[in-house]
Amino acid sequence: VDPLAGKRFIFDATPDFASQVGELLTHPAGTALPRASVPLQEYLHGIFLTHGHMGHYTGLIHIGREGASANRLPLYVSPSMAAYLSDNEPWAFLVRNHHVQLVVLQPEIRLVLTDSLSLTPFIVDHRQEFTDTLGFLIHGPERTLMFVPDADVWGGWKVPFEQLLDRSDAALLDGSFFSYEELGHRRQGDVPHPPVQASIDLLSAREGNPEIWFTHLNNTNPLWDPDSHENVVVSDAGFGIARRGQTFEL
Ligand SMILES: [Zn+2]
Ligand SMILES: [Zn+2]
Repeated sequence: VDPLAGKRFIFDATPDFASQVGELLTHPAGTALPRASVPLQEYLHGIFLTHGHMGHYTGLIHIGREGASANRLPLYVSPSMAAYLSDNEPWAFLVRNHHVQLVVLQPEIRLVLTDSLSLTPFIVDHRQEFTDTLGFLIHGPERTLMFVPDADVWGGWKVPFEQLLDRSDAALLDGSFFSYEELGHRRQGDVPHPPVQASIDLLSAREGNPEIWFTHLNNTNPLWDPDSHENVVVSDAGFGIARRGQTFEL
């Protein structure tokens, strides 16, 4: 939410997109609520997508003809995500019928959204079944928030992870699994993510971290339980678990 410009944006369209929009409208920093039956694009000014895994873009089903029937809602995506959406139904229908207006982002090219908000996309190392994956540095007037909900590893990125941390004041990072023991019968190679335990070790060895908040918790993750021992491990290390409705002032 950019209260100065009166604009609202969403990062990733989850299957629970309707409640994302609902929470956006009641966001404390938001401007006046729209009256009923105002077109979606008049109070949601853009959606940024990280990648083509189901939890991150399938909420787009809500903006077509059967739903909000948005008109040219800006959809900010990587070149490969743009190609994926344009080439595959039912997403291509949203593009052809101008429910969305694809805006192709170039990694490492800063995009100015308003006088008080800009953003730098970057490429994240994450399994590419359908598309590549973007992370974002979201720049407000004072602070920068890094958003990386999905990554396979923290090393070997095109722009090094450490350099991106250095450019951030706070970071929302992949906390899918606390440890690989949660996966049970599943092979960890199927769904690689840096376990929170390992991320803590890596980040604790660094000087001058931004605020670190883990997000994108899998349903097996003991961090869902605020009273769990694992929560103590994270907070003792000086990091946090992002919670629903949490705000970051930029
Ligand atoms: Zn993913
Ligand atoms: Zn994901």
